[in-house]
Amino acid sequence: MPLGSFASVGFDSKRQRALPVPWASASMQTFTPDSSIASDVIPSANYGDRNKDRLPDMIVLHYTGMPDVEGAIARLCTAGTDVSAHYIVLEDGRIVQCVPEAKRAWHAGAASWAGEEDINSCSIGIEIVNRGHDWGYPEFPLRQTAAVIALCRGIMLRRKVPPHRVLGHSDVAPSRKKDPGEKFPWHSLANSGVGHWVQPAPIVRGESLKLGTISDDVRGLQQALAKYGYGVPINGKYDTATMEVVTAFQRHFRPARVDGVADHSTLTTLQSLLASFSADTKAVAAR
Ligand SMILES: [Zn+2]
Repeated sequence: MPLGSFASVGFDSKRQRALPVPWASASMQTFTPDSSIASDVIPSANYGDRNKDRLPDMIVLHYTGMPDVEGAIARLCTAGTDVSAHYIVLEDGRIVQCVPEAKRAWHAGAASWAGEEDINSCSIGIEIVNRGHDWGYPEFPLRQTAAVIALCRGIMLRRKVPPHRVLGHSDVAPSRKKDPGEKFPWHSLANSGVGHWVQPAPIVRGESLKLGTISDDVRGLQQALAKYGYGVPINGKYDTATMEVVTAFQRHFRPARVDGVADHSTLTTLQSLLASFSADTKAVAAR
């Protein structure tokens, strides 16, 4: 069957819309969902074993970035696309599991965080249905965000994922990815104990570091970003790679202006994040 053909299974009569299950998935062996709030399983053909049985202690959030949910589910589940995720969260809040958590889903690609590069082996990947920047980038509906929060809370408890290891795809792959993007309500997640976040410092006029700057201040910025976990060169040059990491940082932590310029607000937000990160880590260690 070609990509985009769907079986009629997965229909829940209490809901208005049937889940678009690709034919290929309908014939695959199903499994028991790891999350008790996952309402459906659509098995993906795309997964493998975690490297050296690495236990996942990170969650990576994505948006699907496709015009419709049918195409997104088909892409994530059909053999040959080489992409998948453990979970898909629909706009209406339904949660579909596609890959067992014990397995390595293929969602992060070339990436790095805190010195680790095989992000697929150490993480759980969650795809949030949203058309993304290329297709109008709508707001994330409240019920969808609530479902993401509930799903993450369960995974954090079961897998002992610390708050600061709930990240966006753009955080771990800043040169390639924008998702879930600056409209994603990280503050709402943090209010429910999901992810690490601080109130961003207000944007004010003043000096800033930007593309082309070479200085010790740039080196200090790079060191601070690397300390938080970002994969960034530490060379004192505000090069393209540095600008991309600052852009990723802003999408997640200072979304009011995403321009890759390290202004006072960006630097202050990073410092307060690091200060509270230390406290957060100590609190975790003291448990
Ligand atoms: Zn992604």
